Amino acid sequence: MLSKATQVEYRNLIEAAKAAAELAYCPYSQYNVGAAVLTFDGRIYTGCNVENAGYTQTRHAEEAAVLNAIAGGALKRAAEAGLTQFQFIKAIAVHSRKGSDPWPCCNCRQSLSEFGFDFDVIGEGPNNTILCQKLRKLIPYPFPIEKVLASVRGSRS
Ligand SMILES: [Zn+2]
Repeated sequence: MLSKATQVEYRNLIEAAKAAAELAYCPYSQYNVGAAVLTFDGRIYTGCNVENAGYTQTRHAEEAAVLNAIAGGALKRAAEAGLTQFQFIKAIAVHSRKGSDPWPCCNCRQSLSEFGFDFDVIGEGPNNTILCQKLRKLIPYPFPIEKVLASVRGSRS
């Protein structure tokens, strides 16, 4: 159950994702998606889907929002605050204009998991409810990123 303060915060985040969906470039699918990342320090970064005639070059809203957060300095600020890459995202809201559930595609789930599994993935549900799941719940058998990182770091020392 979300606290009152978190509900207010998350509704604001969903509105940011909705606004971002309006900015999507999606002439092929007509499927506008917006995403909004809430960082550990309370800032919001948005992204939208950007399609491409080559199709595979299409970028999804969730990826764009994370890229914008990092380019906006959120990861650097987190490191300066003593946090790891797994702690800089507090939540991500996803909104499709056609009203489907907010759960990211599996490519985006993998992209998001680079930055932790314990943040909330949220979106608007029926009757103005907030749908909310931890990323961990959306990836029951995750790729072992921490082991991969440890092996790379180990081989460099
Ligand atoms: Zn995706």
